[in-house]
Amino acid sequence: MTVDPPLRAQAGLDADTLVDLKRRLLAHQGELLGREGTLRARLAAEESATPNTFVAGAEGGAAAEADDEVIAMLHHDDAELNAVTAALTRLQDGQYGWCTHCGEEIGRARLLALPQAELCIACQDVLEHRGAL
Ligand SMILES: [Zn+2]
Repeated sequence: MTVDPPLRAQAGLDADTLVDLKRRLLAHQGELLGREGTLRARLAAEESATPNTFVAGAEGGAAAEADDEVIAMLHHDDAELNAVTAALTRLQDGQYGWCTHCGEEIGRARLLALPQAELCIACQDVLEHRGAL
């Protein structure tokens, strides 16, 4: 078993803050993985409840809608899981806390609110308003 090197202060964040953020990221990762299992089980159960036969009327529509909802949640969780995993990798590589686009510090307050943030608030703003960086 390998021991992770201790986290060093970086991007204006002290080691204690980084340890705290890492703990939160790991907890979030565990939560997302657990929920993914639950959602996939739900999807499988719904699919077996409505086999390949054509289900007419409101009942079939509702089942398809429920599937769409579960699939949308899975997509959302997947994206979040990727962001959390990427943040943990950056932490380990000493790259955490800097905007992956412009290289500026993301800032302590933003990271405390959103530990998996990979963009500074300015780049995030551009992304949200223009749809691209
Ligand atoms: Zn930036």
